[in-house]
Amino acid sequence: MSAVSKQYDMVVIGGGIVGTAIALHLVDAGVRTLLVDGHHPGRATDAGAGILSPQTALSEDGAWVDLCMAAGRYYDDLAERLAAAGERDIGYARCGLFEFATRDTDVPAFEWVAKISAGRGQVVEVPPEDARARFPALAPVQRALYNPDAARVDGRALRAAMLAAAANAGLAHREPANAELLIEHDRVVGAIVDGERVACSTVVIAGGAWTPRVAESLGVRTPVVPHRGQIVHLVMNDVDTRAWPIAQPVFGYYLVPWPGGRVVVGATVEPEAAFDARATAGGVHEVLRETLRVAPGLRDATLAEVRVGLRPTTPDDHPLLGAVPGHDNVCVATGHGANGLLLGPYSGRLVAQACRGEVPEHDLTPFALDRFRELSR
Ligand SMILES: Cc1cc2nc3c(=O)[nH]c(=O)nc-3n(C[C@H](O)[C@H](O)[C@H](O)COP(=O)(O)OP(=O)(O)OC[C@H]3O[C@@H](n4cnc5c(N)ncnc54)[C@H](O)[C@@H]3O)c2cc1C
Repeated sequence: MSAVSKQYDMVVIGGGIVGTAIALHLVDAGVRTLLVDGHHPGRATDAGAGILSPQTALSEDGAWVDLCMAAGRYYDDLAERLAAAGERDIGYARCGLFEFATRDTDVPAFEWVAKISAGRGQVVEVPPEDARARFPALAPVQRALYNPDAARVDGRALRAAMLAAAANAGLAHREPANAELLIEHDRVVGAIVDGERVACSTVVIAGGAWTPRVAESLGVRTPVVPHRGQIVHLVMNDVDTRAWPIAQPVFGYYLVPWPGGRVVVGATVEPEAAFDARATAGGVHEVLRETLRVAPGLRDATLAEVRVGLRPTTPDDHPLLGAVPGHDNVCVATGHGANGLLLGPYSGRLVAQACRGEVPEHDLTPFALDRFRELSR
């Protein structure tokens, strides 16, 4: 049985931040696109804290840091594109970030972060009292760095805004439980969506932690595993948190303030949980214990919500972006781990360029799937 006539040029499987960004860039380039998303429990985009601070990225890998910096710069363009479509409510704000040490044992790590952040932007060491002056719930701080360029974004709102803007530009969107690749004579010719055969020229797999389940039908191994993250939303009554910066202890959990007294704190990193997307007593205990250690002023906050997401994580913590070796009409975009809200929209732009046959504006070679060919044997 051959596939039905081609209604779409491309199908994107997976509609988290990454797949939705790819779909938006494809329709903006005039590509007839279908986005399919199963909204599996544990979709990482729904739980992400929303920290955008490439200047303090904890890595000395030049290619990866360059990608993070470019992704951070791209946010202003994206916000403008969405605003032009009337989508302004994405929680994006340049709120600044304090990275700090509270104990003697934190100082070596603090000095390493200060060293690697130097020259990436305007990160400077500031008097430690500044951190508490701007984020009054904190315990006394020993050393503090300030990154004025750090921003935050609401992953759920951003995903919804990109989807709405893309739909406005002609994107088709469906929500099947599990889309599959449609393969004929070892070649991908489309996708199977709710049992229906949908033909297309190119398929992009952006299935987050579930990507290997889609790619394995091609005999291709994508080394991505879920790292569960539990994150807690606290609300302080009658406290104006709108202008508070992000607080990031060098060891321990971050605190991300939002308007309305909300402070989001987290998150656990639990590879052993695999695809179990439950919130657990132990996870919430760990987050709150670490939070109250560095921010005792949050003790009386209301525990409003716990979110759980499965970060799609690769062995080297860097994303998988671009063509699937041996299949010239299949691309992959996943593995953004703990940085997918920062990287996802820009990765989406680059992968959309690559799968349209263009040379991406940022070199994707360091993030190609074939860097893991040893693992595939
Ligand atoms: C607690 C937590 C905090 C985080 N904080 C930050 C942060 O501060 N800053 C930052 O930059 N990043 C952060 N991240 C990371 C970021 O959220 C993720 O890297 C990013 O959301 C991954 O996006 P994704 O689109 O690849 O995957 P997901 O959001 O998981 O989406 C994948 C989608 O693919 C769909 N799918 C999969 N297979 C199929 C199929 N066969 N058929 C149909 N649909 C399918 C799933 O249903 C799902 O909806 C955090 C993550 C967590 C969990």
